[in-house]
Amino acid sequence: MKLYNSLTRSKEEFTPAKPDYVTLYTCGPTVYDYAHIGNLRTFLFYDILRRALQVNGYDVNHVMNITDVGHLTDDADAGDDKMEKGAAREGKTVWQVAQFYEEAFHNDIKRLNILPASQRPRATEHIPEQIELVKQLEAKGYTYATSDGIYFDTSKFPDYGKMARLDISGLQEGARVEKSIEKHHPTDFALWKLSPTDSKRAMEWESPWGTGFPGWHLECSAMAMKYLGKTLDIHTGGVDHMPVHHTNEIAQSEAVTDQPFARWWMHGEFLLINDGRMGKSVGNFITLSNLIDKGFNPLAYRYFALTAHYRSKLNFSWETLDKSQHAYNKLVYLLSTWDEPASTGNADSLEKFHSAINDDLNLPEAMAALWEVVKSNDTSAVKAITIFEMDKILGLDLMRQSNSLRERLQKAGKKMDKLIGKREEARTAKDYTTADELRDKIAKLGFAVDDTEDGPVLKPIDDQLGL
Ligand code: AMP
Ligand code: ZN
Repeated sequence: MKLYNSLTRSKEEFTPAKPDYVTLYTCGPTVYDYAHIGNLRTFLFYDILRRALQVNGYDVNHVMNITDVGHLTDDADAGDDKMEKGAAREGKTVWQVAQFYEEAFHNDIKRLNILPASQRPRATEHIPEQIELVKQLEAKGYTYATSDGIYFDTSKFPDYGKMARLDISGLQEGARVEKSIEKHHPTDFALWKLSPTDSKRAMEWESPWGTGFPGWHLECSAMAMKYLGKTLDIHTGGVDHMPVHHTNEIAQSEAVTDQPFARWWMHGEFLLINDGRMGKSVGNFITLSNLIDKGFNPLAYRYFALTAHYRSKLNFSWETLDKSQHAYNKLVYLLSTWDEPASTGNADSLEKFHSAINDDLNLPEAMAALWEVVKSNDTSAVKAITIFEMDKILGLDLMRQSNSLRERLQKAGKKMDKLIGKREEARTAKDYTTADELRDKIAKLGFAVDDTEDGPVLKPIDDQLGL
C-alpha cells in the first residue's frame, strides 16, 4: 500500500512500526458550532484511509480527540475564545455548548457512515497530561515565560517547520508587529496561557504557572502519546493544520521524546464553495442538516466526496451534489433488482479497485472500477458481491440500502398491482384519459410504469426514492 507522506512529499510504501497493527491519530472537531461539510470531507478522508488499512489486513487503533477547550480564534495565540463565543451566542454555559456540539458531531459522523474512532478523548479531561508535557519541556529548557503565559521557544528546536517547509528567516524578518507581544520569535507558541487577572474565564485550571488553560496544540500531543505511544504510525488532519498546528505538535512532542512523533503525516485538501474555502470563520458554511433539509441523502454527500482524490481541492455546488445523489440512487436501485450476491466477486475487477485504493487512495479510479462492474457482462449475482466487497472501503452502506429498497419495492409493488391492473384494463379499452390518471396516481407514490414488451414494469422515480 502506497501512501503520500507530507514529511517527505512523496508516496511511500506503507509499513507500520509493528506488523499488522496501525496507530492512527486524527485531529478531531472543535465543538463550539456544527461541523460544516468541509470539515466532514476531512473526516470522510480518514474514514476511507482507516477502512482501506483494515481491508489490507491491519488492526487499526484509531484515536480522535474532541477539542472542547476554548482555544483562541487566532493561530497566533490571540483573539476571542471560541467556546466562550459559542456560549454567548446561545445563552448557554461553555460546557453545555461543548456537550451539544459533540453530540451533533457524532450524529453527523453516523449519518455519513463514518466509523467512530476506537477512542475519542476530550481535551478538558486531559489537563494533567498537558501540564505534565509543559513541565517536561520546561525541564529540558524549551520554554520561557511572558506576562501572559508559558511559550515554546521554536529557535531551540533545530528542525522547526520542516514538514511545512516554513521559511523561518523570512517569517522572522517580516514580523515586527508581533514583537510587541513578548514572544521571542514569531513562530513561538503558547503552551499554557494565564487567565486575565481582572476577569474569570469560563474554563480554567490550576497549574504550576498559575490559573489558566492549555495552548491548543498541546492536547493532541498529550492525548496521542497517552493512547498510542511516542511515535504514531499515521497522523491525519486538514491541510490548514500543516504550517501551525501540526508543526507545533511535532516540535513539542519531539522535544520531549527525542523520537519522531509520527511516521506518516497525511493531509486532506479543502472543500471549496464558489472557488473559495468553506470555513466557519468565513461564514459561508453548509451543514449536513442543511443538505438533509433540502431533501438530500447524507450518503449522497459521501458519494460526492468520493469523486475526488483526497489531495485535490473539491468544489461544492448543489448541481454536482444532485448528480451524486442520482448516481448513488441508481447504484442502490440496480443492486436492489439484482440476484442475491454470489459467494465470490470478480477477481480482476477487485484487483483493479484495490490497486487504485492502494495507490494513495485514488478514489476517482476506484469509483471508475466500480462503474465498470455495473456495466460489465458478469451475472448480477457476481456484480453484487463484487460491489459489496468494494463498499467495505467506500462505506456507502450499499447492502443495507439496497435490501431496504428491495423490500419497499416489493411492498409497494403489491399495493400497486391493483392500480397497474386497472391501468392495463383502461389501456386495453383505449381509455387513455383514465390510463394517464392512473399513471399520475402511481407517480405520486414514487413510481413510474415502464411499458415493456413483457408488460408493465414498475420503476422507482429517482428523486422520490427517499432512501
Ligand atoms: P475544526 O473543527 O475547525 O477544528 O476543523 C476540523 C477539521 O476540518 C480540521 O482537520 C480542518 O483542517 C478541517 N477543515 C476545515 N475547513 C475545511 C474545508 N473547507 N475543507 C476540508 N476540511 C476542512
Ligand atoms: Zn491536532
